Amino acid sequence: MTQLPPDAGPVLPEHHVASSNRRSQETPPQSDSAGARFPIGGAANEFRRRFYADVSRVQWNDWRWQLRKRIKTVEDLDRIFILSDDEALTVRRHSGSLPVGITPYYAHLLDRVDATQGLRRTHIPVGAEYFTAPGEASDPLQEDARQAVPGLVHRYPDRVLFLVTGNCSTYCRYCTRSRLVGDPGGPYSFSMPQWERALEYLEQTPRVRDVLLSGGDPLLIATEKLDYLLTRLRAIKHVEFLRIGSKIPVVLPQRITRGFIKMVKKHKPWMSIHFTHPDELTPEVTEAMERLADAGLPLGSQTVLLKGVNDEPAVMTKLMHGLLMRRVKPYYLYQCDPIAGSSHFRTTVAEGLRMIEALRGHTSGYAVPHFVVDTPGGKIPLLPDYVEGRDHGDLLLRNYQGKIFRHPDGDDALPDRAAQLRKVI
Ligand code: SF4
Repeated sequence: MTQLPPDAGPVLPEHHVASSNRRSQETPPQSDSAGARFPIGGAANEFRRRFYADVSRVQWNDWRWQLRKRIKTVEDLDRIFILSDDEALTVRRHSGSLPVGITPYYAHLLDRVDATQGLRRTHIPVGAEYFTAPGEASDPLQEDARQAVPGLVHRYPDRVLFLVTGNCSTYCRYCTRSRLVGDPGGPYSFSMPQWERALEYLEQTPRVRDVLLSGGDPLLIATEKLDYLLTRLRAIKHVEFLRIGSKIPVVLPQRITRGFIKMVKKHKPWMSIHFTHPDELTPEVTEAMERLADAGLPLGSQTVLLKGVNDEPAVMTKLMHGLLMRRVKPYYLYQCDPIAGSSHFRTTVAEGLRMIEALRGHTSGYAVPHFVVDTPGGKIPLLPDYVEGRDHGDLLLRNYQGKIFRHPDGDDALPDRAAQLRKVI
């Protein structure tokens, strides 16, 4: 069995990993640093000079420095942003999970003055978070009820979701796991013994062939510790497919250090990266994607459709094109989950379908993600309806321009929609 290195703990003391394990909370070694060789884009550099004048380029590019200097309080925010009364009040009253946390790097993408700017809304909370709309819930996907052991959600036959940490580098205000992230000492805990129980379950469950590491953000964990977990998972013969879900390459691209790449390359996981808006496609993110793709990791994106943030076809198209150019396959476009306090972000499902219609046919098929609604029963893919009807043996199909085309087809091939609907009801 691979031994966990003594300094292989999470990077910051606020982590949920068992507080008794003091050695696991040390800072990872200095060699795991992006250092001066990581690029700093023009806008980020200007921001650094203005708000972090005494911070060197090397410090700025040190992901641990970025984590330590996260913007968390009204005072931190006030130093950079002109806060609306609503924002200031909400940040002050907030307690518990889903705290405010923004890396200085990511803060440069948020508008300093305009509280309605999309990306700013995704990270600075407003009072609407405290309004629970009908149908919303703290755990709308019922993940807690589907845990095989604590931290391991088993809701599909051959794959599991492994929640490895409760912490993130930044906190998204629409987070599906808002009930558990960023709340040390709260009802959810993440620890080495918990990891071991999850590993034991996986070792004893041969039908699981696919493990998705998520959280929280798995890349927040020290490189050595992640190495340990990936090594253990790779040692389970029936686990064929490993995936890591992360937002860190977008909000803290400096984390993609040479040391991290060297480690992750050994284990060959796929990566699902959480992108929101084309403004995130900075020189820093381009560098991070290049490092990951050059290491041979297949990259896919996941994006939540958010009202007033990325729900314009031009914005979404720009993001999808930018991802393809960086060797990231747009994978999922999610309908925003009905998490308590998220109605100000949620579009209708019809708007999601219209977004897919605006992409499909108008641009490369590779740039079109799957539009999915997540439910307690799993992800349900939805497509615009391109079937207009039937004329004798022909199917009448609508193309992306709205033109109708005939396709010769057997009489029985098209299912009776009314009968299908009756079955659902
Ligand atoms: S990074 Fe992921 S887990 Fe963390 S707050 Fe954002 S959506 Fe939630």
